Amino acid sequence: AQERYSSIRDKPALTRCGTRIGMHMNAGLMADLPSLTSSGAEGVGLFRTELQFLVRNQMPKRTELAALYARVLDAAHGKRVVFRTLDIGSDKVLPYMKANDEPNPALGWRAIRVGLDKPGVMRMQLQALMRAANGRPLTVMFPFVAQFEEYRAARAEVDKTLAREARLGHVLPSKIEIGAMLETPSLAFAPRRFFEEVEFLSIGGNDLKQFFFAADRENELVRRRYDTLNVSFLTFLENIVARCNETDTQLSFCGEDAGRPVEALCFAAIGFRNLSMRPASIGPVKSLLRRCDLGEVRAVIHAARDRGDMSVREAVMDYVRGQHQ
Ligand code: PEP
Ligand code: MG
Repeated sequence: AQERYSSIRDKPALTRCGTRIGMHMNAGLMADLPSLTSSGAEGVGLFRTELQFLVRNQMPKRTELAALYARVLDAAHGKRVVFRTLDIGSDKVLPYMKANDEPNPALGWRAIRVGLDKPGVMRMQLQALMRAANGRPLTVMFPFVAQFEEYRAARAEVDKTLAREARLGHVLPSKIEIGAMLETPSLAFAPRRFFEEVEFLSIGGNDLKQFFFAADRENELVRRRYDTLNVSFLTFLENIVARCNETDTQLSFCGEDAGRPVEALCFAAIGFRNLSMRPASIGPVKSLLRRCDLGEVRAVIHAARDRGDMSVREAVMDYVRGQHQ
């Protein structure tokens, strides 16, 4: 399938109307890095750091993590890699950490909540990242931020760690960018000040959608019940785009839906300019984007909404079928 798209691999995702969409890839293993070249991705929009913690029976050591992150940065050859700090809890439980018997783990003590309440692991990971960067730029993203204060507190940990590294005589990153994942509806309604302070935002669509519709992403009975192209969800996303545009906040979308061509097209039409997806999706998404005019897609979306359609999918699919290869 990759071969089918090789002719556009080194071309930008430039829509027929001349809008350029940034195509980034999701990764989580060193073995994913060669895809950066083979897929034509512009960078790693999401590096999930859980796997190195999940595959062992004890906490990985800082030196091991620093070595791995350094290899990831080496393999990226200067392309941006967004490292997401540990997102444990919920569906990702560490075998060597005492399991909490939580009735609703997806809504429980997970991700940044664990990071802030028990900062030892987060500090160790931040140090490992800084040492891996070793004078290169570093990009860190915090998962599951539900309110402004959590972002501020996490940032304060970064500043503390930077100061500590400097005191210890380590080379600091040449530049550090700190962003947040927007995965809970609450963050979309954070004060304007949050949007001004955060350096970038990335929509974690898998979680955001599960919380928007209150439908467990792991539960077969409900996970496909609500369409991502449901008018309510798209309107919600549009509001996030508007808030980011008002405050000049970098925004991307990194959930699984970013790798589905029709969904990706709709996200671009409502204003997303950066998408991050599994490497194999880059070709199909780019191919569709290059055939379409976002103004036309926007008109199709608005017409479907005005008609009262529950989802814009049918209307956009009709439009897509009319765009020739
Ligand atoms: C998401 O929630 O969309 C996301 C990218 O994170 P994860 O799938 O790892 O929860
Ligand atoms: Mg998530």
